[in-house]
Amino acid sequence: MKKHNFSAGPCILPQEVLKQASAAVLNFNDDNLSLIEISHRSQPFVQVMEKAQNLVKELLNVPKGYSVLFLQGGASMEFLMVAMNLMKVNGSAAYTNTGAWAKKAIAEAKDLGNAIVLGDSSDKNYNYIPKGYTIPDTVDYFHCTSNNTIYGTQIKEFPHCPTLMVCDMSSDIFSRKVDVSKFDLIYAGAQKNMGPAGTTLVIIKDEILGTTGRNIPTMLDYNTHISKESMFNTPPVFPIYVSMLTLQWLKDLGGVDAIEKINQEKADLLYNEIDNNSLFEGTAKTEDRSTMNVCFLLKDESKKEAFDKMWNEAGISGIKGHRSVGGYRASIYNAMPIESIQVLVDVMKKLEQKDD
Ligand SMILES: *Cc1c(COP(=O)(O)O)cnc(C)c1O
Repeated sequence: MKKHNFSAGPCILPQEVLKQASAAVLNFNDDNLSLIEISHRSQPFVQVMEKAQNLVKELLNVPKGYSVLFLQGGASMEFLMVAMNLMKVNGSAAYTNTGAWAKKAIAEAKDLGNAIVLGDSSDKNYNYIPKGYTIPDTVDYFHCTSNNTIYGTQIKEFPHCPTLMVCDMSSDIFSRKVDVSKFDLIYAGAQKNMGPAGTTLVIIKDEILGTTGRNIPTMLDYNTHISKESMFNTPPVFPIYVSMLTLQWLKDLGGVDAIEKINQEKADLLYNEIDNNSLFEGTAKTEDRSTMNVCFLLKDESKKEAFDKMWNEAGISGIKGHRSVGGYRASIYNAMPIESIQVLVDVMKKLEQKDD
């Protein structure tokens, strides 16, 4: 049966990418060797790494003076690396607290200095994006999360920032246009919208480094990885290769401009159904709704069994909400076709019809 994968992460990838990736595991570059058994320093793999970096630069219009890195340790490692590399000894940083991931980032910074929380939506279980705060120019950097994967909220307009601007874009990178020049550091775990788990994309303005006065362990120092072009140690060859294929797929589709329009159409289709169907309600504040993770509840819990059976039978997978929000979460990342969202919408409509 055809499956419709609404998983929040690891997430859906384009079918053609999965086919190319499987083929490369058996025979890469027609050389009868596997992609995952050749040297990462061999020419074919070095080309993969360069191509992946160049696609990131091209798709996001990365200005000169920035490095593109593929690291390990997930976005969670970046919570620590950001603070290690940017927070001065006895320094301070400002954070928004917009959910579980932001909170984990704040915890790492607190261990190293003064982490100030400026905007905090924990009072309403993170169902909105805090606004109207002023970032002081005295902090070493400001950190925000562009898309809150668990709660389905997304920053639509980034704040004015008089200091270094750092953003966790794990779950919406490459989904919409961003002006990279406004940011000093962007990071994203691959497994939400770029590729398989195992690598983390970091886009960093080179000149911001080396000013903390802190002794940074080699592997946690961005300069280590910049100077070796993400090849200081063995890079995660397979996740980087599959990310490269996914970025090439995105480029062939028309790039970020094209996918942004498609993603908006997809999100509108589902949110319209949630708003117009008498059985459902959205959990995130309307103006802050994410185009990537759509969170919704059944107003009447007694319909749960019938609804769960219907979407299961329709081949839908991965829409159970995060335990901290409950209900449902449909993650509709770049590779999710609008046809799959229509299948979910049809199930929701059918449930409502059954009701009257
Ligand atoms: C999933 C996620 C993370 C954690 O990513 P890992 O790669 O598992 O460490 C961090 N931030 C956001 C916004 C996420 O969605």
